[in-house]
Amino acid sequence: MSRTATIGCPAWCTVRHGHLLGEDDLVHCSAEILIGDLALRLCVDDAAGHSEGPYVLVDDHELTAHEAERLIEALTELVGLASSVEHRVSEPGPGS
Ligand SMILES: [Zn+2]
Repeated sequence: MSRTATIGCPAWCTVRHGHLLGEDDLVHCSAEILIGDLALRLCVDDAAGHSEGPYVLVDDHELTAHEAERLIEALTELVGLASSVEHRVSEPGPGS
């Protein structure tokens, strides 16, 4: 146990509290998941005596759990479209 858990960290929090200034020190964040240049984290803000979140941080953009679910649906749809494009590209074109 190297991190201080004095402010009630969720099990997934990897922040070493006590090293950041002000309210930034009251935000719990998960380990970063990197996808290309995108950094994804789950965060809960415990500043001002109430919890805000959880929200998914995609770089600097905060998504609610509902918005993150919509993102999953949109990505699934786009990946489906992308795979149909790859399939078409691999087939002979209409002019050949
Ligand atoms: Zn924490």
